[in-house]
Amino acid sequence: MGRIYLVAGVPGVGKTTVINGVMEQVKREGLKVKHVVFGDFMLKLALERKLVKHRDEIRKLPLDLQRELQVKAAEEIAKIAKEYDVLLDTHCLIKTREGFWPGLPERVLRLLKLDKIFLIEADPKDIAARRLGDKARERDLEAEEEIKEHQLMNRLSALVYAVFTGASVNVIRNEQGKVNEAVKAMLELIRKGG
Ligand code: ATP
Ligand code: AMP
Ligand code: MG
Repeated sequence: MGRIYLVAGVPGVGKTTVINGVMEQVKREGLKVKHVVFGDFMLKLALERKLVKHRDEIRKLPLDLQRELQVKAAEEIAKIAKEYDVLLDTHCLIKTREGFWPGLPERVLRLLKLDKIFLIEADPKDIAARRLGDKARERDLEAEEEIKEHQLMNRLSALVYAVFTGASVNVIRNEQGKVNEAVKAMLELIRKGG
């Protein structure tokens, strides 16, 4: 079994950007690590069933449907994690129309055995600006106060996941214009193993 590193954080904080940086280094070193975007697996399933047109519509679907896609995605990812170490690019909590909803409910945690939890955080003001600046996505508009609360809720859920799995939790700051520092911090924690 490979290791699973959960990489979570609010939408637009820079999870995918930071992991891309980590992967550049990991590839240079020839390590057997895969960047697995949980949302890609859900999107593929949702597109096949014509439930959505793009990834930012998934969290607007009825919760039962989201749950079904989530478990199927986790089952597929579990197969990859048998062979590779996985940087799992996903969310501790999804902000749905029915409230905060766990990205890794018990059923998913049983399928994906977490080794470490990396919580990417940044200043809410910077996150709001990143969301507005990223024209490739349709992220939700949240006031700075809401982003702050969302980050707090993510920390609480990360701790729940840690208690359930025994994984450690590390908060990594992704400061404005300093992606490389976040990449370095994540690489160091990965290298520490354990
Ligand atoms: P989602 O959860 O919606 O997939 P994400 O956390 O993966 O979001 P990214 O797509 O990686 O976020 O980044 C969102 C935007 O912020 C991108 O335009 C990216 O270039 C920018 N960005 C990421 N990190 C930084 C940073 N440290 N400084 C400035 N801009 C950044
Ligand atoms: P992302 O590109 O990471 O924002 O993922 C796209 C979408 O996939 C998110 O906005 C969520 O709707 C969904 N998604 C990603 N990870 C999970 C998860 N663990 N559980 C449920 N939905 C998820
Ligand atoms: Mg992303």
